[in-house]
Parts: sequence; C-alpha cells; structure tokens
Amino acid sequence: NRERQKKPEWLKLKLSTGEHFAATRQLLSGLRLNTVCRSAMCPNLQECWSKGTATFMLLGSVCTRTCRFCAVDKTVLPVPPDPEEPQKIALAVKSMNLKHVVLTSVNRDDLPDGGSMHWVSAIRSIRSLNPEVSIECLVPDFDGITANADRVMQEAPEVLNHNIETVPSLYPAVRPQADYRRSLELIERAKAVFRLSTKSGMMVGMGETGYEVAASLGDLRASLCDIVTIGQYLQPTAAHLPVNRYVSPEEFEEYKNMAESLGFRHVQSGPFVRSSYHAEEFVAARHVE
Ligand code: SF4
Ligand code: SF4
Repeated sequence: NRERQKKPEWLKLKLSTGEHFAATRQLLSGLRLNTVCRSAMCPNLQECWSKGTATFMLLGSVCTRTCRFCAVDKTVLPVPPDPEEPQKIALAVKSMNLKHVVLTSVNRDDLPDGGSMHWVSAIRSIRSLNPEVSIECLVPDFDGITANADRVMQEAPEVLNHNIETVPSLYPAVRPQADYRRSLELIERAKAVFRLSTKSGMMVGMGETGYEVAASLGDLRASLCDIVTIGQYLQPTAAHLPVNRYVSPEEFEEYKNMAESLGFRHVQSGPFVRSSYHAEEFVAARHVE
C-alpha cells in the first residue's frame, strides 16, 4: 500500500517551535482568520509561524472544487464572504509586522464575481493600513472568466501567483474542475497585459514523469512565468490522493537546474517547498531586476 510507505529521511520534520509561534496562533484564531498553513496542513507551519509569516486564505474555509490533493473542506456549502475579513487581515498583517503577505482563497465558483471584489477589498485594506507591505496574490483560475481575474490584476500586486499544481496528464485525477491551458493563459495574461511579476508552482511525486515535469516547466516559461516552485506532494489524509513516490533531493536539484536553464528568474525546488515558502525572497529577487 503506497500511501503507507515509510517516509524517507529527508522528509522528517523539524519540530522546533519558536517564541512567535504561540502568539501568531493566538492572534489568528482571535480574529477568526483562515490560513492555508493550517487548512492545507502545510509541513512548514512551525517554521513559518515561528518566524511570524503566514498565508491568509480569503472567502472562507470551504471550497467549491474537489482537488484530490487538497485538505480544504469541500463537504459543506460555502457561506457568503465575511465583509469584515479584509480589515481583519489588514490588522493581523500589522500586528505580525509582516513585510510580505501572501493572500490566497478557496475557489468560489458559486459567486457571480468569483470572489474577485472581495480580493480587491482585501488588497486595498492591507495596503491602507500597511503601506510598505508587498502583496503576493495566489489566485484561483476564476473559472476562466477574465473580467474577474483582471479585477485582481488591476490592483497590481507585487507578485501574481497561480499554480498549475501538476502535469496535464494528471489533471483529470488531481484537479478535475481545472484546465491546464486555462491556468497557463491566466499567467500569460498577468505578464502580457498587466506587466506583473508572475509565479507558478507544481507538486511532484503524484505519478508524473521527469519528461512531463520538464515539458510543464517549458510551458510555464513560454507563458511568461518568472518564478517557479517545485515541492513534494504529501498526502494530507488517507482519503486524499496517495503519494506515488518520494522524489529524492538530488532529483529536486535536477529540476532546479532544468528550470534555471529555461530562464526562470527565481526557482525553489525541494521536498518541503510550497507555493508560499520563503515567498519574501522572491520579492527581493524582483527588486534587483
Ligand atoms: Fe504557511 Fe506557506 Fe509557510 Fe506553508 S509555506 S506554513 S502555507 S506560509
Ligand atoms: Fe483546494 Fe484550491 Fe482545489 Fe479548492 S481549488 S480544492 S482550495 S486546491
């Protein structure tokens, strides 16, 4: 049984809890804010929270899609957006003294604007209370409705991130409601129309081949993607897609070299890399351009 196979040495978690961890947890639960760190059971949670970094998730904790790798709740109906959420996140950003904020959301295919107005409100609230902060928007595909995606892009976030997550052959099994080309088009539009710094990411160990990873990296570069993250897929619970294999650190290094040779401006590739892991470094990379 593959999902029960023993985790290799390099995937053993460092379980250090820094002094900021408890304070960050208390702050976020007091404001009733959702973070990806918790809802996606991210393996870097201890490290990021100890450093006072978190990824905020807008629009509730229930998603309208059923991606098989994702631990976000899809079993109940989503509730209407909380109009106070943008201001609460802005306050949390200030209390945590963040320099770089990652914003993301569940997919809200049930809302006519796909939740895009709420996104805009969050970006503006954060900026008005924290004028120095840089914002990374890890957006959903807005069901391919460009008017909704454009609404967020028009706010000119410092980084526009949209993950392809996996290679196209695995989409039916992994992201059944998503479309590989549609995701690439969103990234290309962010650069070609809005001149944004673009970022995407994928998980490996889901059953893809090395050739497929290489082809997808090529597709991302052809779609004007600047920054890429590649990490190991970890099964959040037994009900989720099993891990196909654990990719070795050496193979992650090969992917990194491959991506760099394709011309990505910044590459993170390693077992624990997640879309928002060390995200602040990517913004620094943007400034030295
Ligand atoms: Fe949160 Fe991102 Fe860090 Fe994971 S990598 S704990 S999602 S900030
Ligand atoms: Fe999870 Fe995003 Fe898929 Fe929703 S769209 S199930 S939040 S990965």
